[in-house]
Amino acid sequence: MYQINDNYQKLPGSYLFSTIGKKVAAYSEANPDKKIIRLGIGDVTQPLAPAIIEALHKAVDEMGNAETFHGYAPDLGYEFLRSAIAKNDYQARGCEIGIDEIFVSDGAKSDSANIQELFALNNRIAVCDPVYPVYVDSNVMAGRTGTYDTKTETWSNVIYMPCTAENNFVPEFPKETPDIIYLCLPNNPTGTTLTKDQLQKWVDYANEKGAVIIYDAAYEAYISEDNVPHTIYECDGAKTCAIELRSFSKNAGFTGVRLGFTVVPKELKCGDVSLNAMWARRHGTKFNGAPYIVQRAGEAVYSEAGKAQLKEQVAYYMRNASTIKNGLKDAGYTVFGGVNAPYIWLKTPDNMTSWQFFDHLLEDANVVGTPGSGFGPSGEGYFRLTAFGTYENTLAALERFKTL
Ligand SMILES: *Cc1c(COP(=O)(O)O)cnc(C)c1O
Repeated sequence: MYQINDNYQKLPGSYLFSTIGKKVAAYSEANPDKKIIRLGIGDVTQPLAPAIIEALHKAVDEMGNAETFHGYAPDLGYEFLRSAIAKNDYQARGCEIGIDEIFVSDGAKSDSANIQELFALNNRIAVCDPVYPVYVDSNVMAGRTGTYDTKTETWSNVIYMPCTAENNFVPEFPKETPDIIYLCLPNNPTGTTLTKDQLQKWVDYANEKGAVIIYDAAYEAYISEDNVPHTIYECDGAKTCAIELRSFSKNAGFTGVRLGFTVVPKELKCGDVSLNAMWARRHGTKFNGAPYIVQRAGEAVYSEAGKAQLKEQVAYYMRNASTIKNGLKDAGYTVFGGVNAPYIWLKTPDNMTSWQFFDHLLEDANVVGTPGSGFGPSGEGYFRLTAFGTYENTLAALERFKTL
């Protein structure tokens, strides 16, 4: 008789966005005349840029011709894409990352969930609180997180690093020493980030403690301030302690196209063992490559036309971000983020819980956002709005906020 992986049974409740989906569906059904504006889930709304569409079309045609057809992609990804990444994302910023340190994948969610496989089950993870749920849940499934306390909504074997207005959303070094540290910067959900000096301290800490940093830089394209690092490898010593995850979803609208990559430096070693070699082995065994067509689309992200078009796309979303941020400030809300990330993190008014504010906003303004508590206990009393809507919807949502 087979047995299931019991760790799945430990996962509490349903995934945050399915709970939100159910609530919104129930409200819509009861109020079919109401037009709901969704500033909840972090999905983009702008279409793919023309340079990307052109590259996709061209690659599709190549696939229909025996001379230019492509089958399985190379394990690490096509060299044309890895070269473009190395040149534009790293060498242009003074970081020497070689193409054999870049692993092309189908996105950062799967990589962020899978990367924990490289580490022993008794390793302790540290996460920011609030946090992107994938890091913790993937470690729950692997059996690394201990037991769940339904009262505090925390795992016994996870180190939580609260990031709240009280510490300016800068995680402090935990009392207990972690083995694996997850950092997402600029941050989802808070929309805040760290300066290069602040990140350097984490790199030094990790090197000193023999910890590894899993650095999720999915929102790198939204950085607007000069003192914010675009990659962790801008920090001295990061190559011996950090793995970086990147995605084409938020900078180029690839949420439905699927492309990302992970950087595992050759200098990153546990004793004699190269994590780069381990991830190459893992990739070769469990992944058969991102589609040729999609990798060509990824290459177009780095073309001159692609760069110019995507800069405009990011600016479009960031105009939404500043519109929401300033509008809410004027309406008397306390707001964070929205400067280096497409998320606005607001303090709920009148000491409402995150879910109370969710219901209030849904029922009285027909606007959907995301309750902060869904990202961790320190998110309680906060609420996330995304800048990924259309400008028109963003303005309309703000008008409704003002009538609350
Ligand atoms: C959106 C997002 C990702 C990217 O996921 P993809 O699988 O590449 O679409 C990764 N990390 C965070 C924190 C995100 O918000």
